[in-house]
Amino acid sequence: MDAHPSPGPDSSGRGQDRWQATASAAGLLADDGSVAVTIFAEMSALAVRTGAINLGQGFPDVDGPEYVKQAAIQAIEAGRNQYAPGDGVPELRQAVADHQKRHYGLDVDPDTEVLVTTGATEALTASVLALTRPGDEVLTLEPFYDSHAAAIGMSGATHVTAPLVPGPDGFRLDVEALRAAATDRLRMILLNSPHNPTGTVLTRDELEAVAAVAREHDAIVVTDEVYEHLTFGAEHIPVSTLPGMAERTLTISSSGKTFSFTGWKVGWLHGPADLVTAVRTVKQYLTYTSGAPFQPAIAQALADDDTPRDLAASLASRRDLLCAGLETAGFEVTRPAGTYFVMADASAVLARLGLRDGVELCRRLPELAGVVAIPASAFCRAGSPTAQALANHVRFTFVKREEVLRDAATRLAGLGVPLS
Ligand code: PMP
Ligand code: GLN
Repeated sequence: MDAHPSPGPDSSGRGQDRWQATASAAGLLADDGSVAVTIFAEMSALAVRTGAINLGQGFPDVDGPEYVKQAAIQAIEAGRNQYAPGDGVPELRQAVADHQKRHYGLDVDPDTEVLVTTGATEALTASVLALTRPGDEVLTLEPFYDSHAAAIGMSGATHVTAPLVPGPDGFRLDVEALRAAATDRLRMILLNSPHNPTGTVLTRDELEAVAAVAREHDAIVVTDEVYEHLTFGAEHIPVSTLPGMAERTLTISSSGKTFSFTGWKVGWLHGPADLVTAVRTVKQYLTYTSGAPFQPAIAQALADDDTPRDLAASLASRRDLLCAGLETAGFEVTRPAGTYFVMADASAVLARLGLRDGVELCRRLPELAGVVAIPASAFCRAGSPTAQALANHVRFTFVKREEVLRDAATRLAGLGVPLS
């Protein structure tokens, strides 16, 4: 498995600034020193510019429940507009603890073991910054969500990966590669299940293999479980429910996905008090706190198990709709067991259109079909074996209204048919 250490000194001899290491780790730094925006920002801008249907960036086109909006409005009216406590408002920390007990049987102390964050993104970045340093290795799956790589770059640690490999049972973890990638420098395993971009929900056996590696190397597990409720028949198993794992695991989630308020950026993490203290120490100098009136609204929402259940059921049928459309258009899909996303192998479509790979297809898709998608290589290290294996894969989101997905399917079905 190849390791990607933070880039060394540049020609000026003073090394890279943190922003350059961050951009480089996320694959956004060009050889000439220019920096790109994230693939999500680039593709969303392309969708706006061309009027194409945006199946790129994963955000719902329908807001979450009205009563949650009303709760936030009432919190504003009631004057909850000054700084919330740095840890998060007590009712939200309590709601997180109750949620973890109710769903997974986990005992979490809301006062010492929960930290409310500015989305899952801040929880992830603060965890990596707090607990790793140059020389440490952080292991992720590959492909990986982009901010995982960026956070590792920011901390100066070395990013190592274990691939998820597509097959008849979906993208599955290469457990041998996972074991081979773990060295005595392994400090953290940064996990994500249900997984963006593949839609994989890791099985108990896969999670046990990860847990065994973590225990053997005395590594911390940081687990990104933002899609915990968005599964389609597969069981989501939190890492911290596995034997001996609660004491070394930080679990991250967010209200954005569960309640369809991605713009509110209310997230949280929980874990053993010493790890939470370490992350809080960094987090309090990133944002200190955010979203004062949104936090009590999400505390109310977290007591509601019906909304996420209904969302998962409706997403399952929207997944089926989009997968059928993609297959009709000539894509080979790997059916996702969770998340907002499906990965599709575009090899046949590329051959038909005479295009090179998924990147070229995504750049041309708005003009060719009026649809925007994300190339899978954006979730891989440049030139890695996984990037090569997934060069023809493209990620589509199905967290859009059915009529939008139907329209997209019709447009994609015309791919390769000459425009009149
Ligand atoms: N982790 C994963 C796997 C994601 O897909 C996303 C974005 N949707 C996030 C974290 C970021 O979550 P948030 O918007 O709460 O920061
Ligand atoms: N998580 C969203 C996705 O994967 C993107 C969020 C963002 O733009 N950073 O599409």
